Amino acid sequence: MKTRSGVPGDARRNGVTGDAVRAVGIGKRFDVGGTPFTALDDIALTIREGRFSTLIGPSGCGKSTLLRILADVVRPTSGTVEVFGRSPEEARRAAEFGFVFQDPVLLPWRTALANVELPLQVAGVAKAERQVRARELLRLVGLEGFEKALPAKLSGGMARRVAIARALILRPRLLFLDEPFNGLDEIRRRQMNDELQRIWMETGTTAILVTHNVSEAVFLSDQVVVLGRNPGRVIADLEIDLPRPRDAETMLLPEFTAYERTLTRLLTEAYEGVEP
Ligand code: ADP
Ligand code: MG
Repeated sequence: MKTRSGVPGDARRNGVTGDAVRAVGIGKRFDVGGTPFTALDDIALTIREGRFSTLIGPSGCGKSTLLRILADVVRPTSGTVEVFGRSPEEARRAAEFGFVFQDPVLLPWRTALANVELPLQVAGVAKAERQVRARELLRLVGLEGFEKALPAKLSGGMARRVAIARALILRPRLLFLDEPFNGLDEIRRRQMNDELQRIWMETGTTAILVTHNVSEAVFLSDQVVVLGRNPGRVIADLEIDLPRPRDAETMLLPEFTAYERTLTRLLTEAYEGVEP
């Protein structure tokens, strides 16, 4: 089941569903002390609008680099990328992107509400409107009542929710999440996966997640792209066809464990033979 009827989802934009990302032949070389290093080689990637897609692979295979290329933070050395039919730069300038980093990077002197408001403040939105929207987002991520809390008073999971709320405040069409739940214990990560699925379903945004956690990838995704390394390349592109909303019961389905096994096998191959 891939449609989410009753929620503004795939068809939110003028009733048209298209590709959020179309990347062909993406290569990225870095110059490391005068020696060229190929981080990504000939990456092809298509991500449909409204879906939840995940990039998974061993550390150092170029997941973050690929995400940054799509988000116009890094320029590829070769290949073409289209985001909603235009260049990543044009899409970024049109404020189509929200970005959640591995580290929540909240400003410690600003309250949760003021942190979420920040992108609107930078955009010059008046305070009253900023606060209404930031409160709405804090409610969406389950932090009603914590508006005035400073980051130091928030748990790791709560800080990540604030970071997600902040990334969503400009109503991005595409949400990038680079290992957003690293460092959380297994139970908190599971809870955040539930929350993220709910938030994604409620907002209807396209999401691209980077993780190296197999069950997180299966639980959240419609599509999982497995990257191998040396050089970073696509080794598999899988559809995850499981009903939504997914919950603890879903994880007990034989199909769920079969997806986990397949992904674990592919990841093991990606790790093998390339250890330094
Ligand atoms: P991942 O997110 O999968 O762990 P990264 O995208 O961070 O991988 O990095 C992929 C490879 O590219 C790594 O070997 C990393 O050291 C290298 N790399 C990333 N950014 C740079 C950079 N700015 N300069 C040189 N090498 C880089
Ligand atoms: Mg990374």
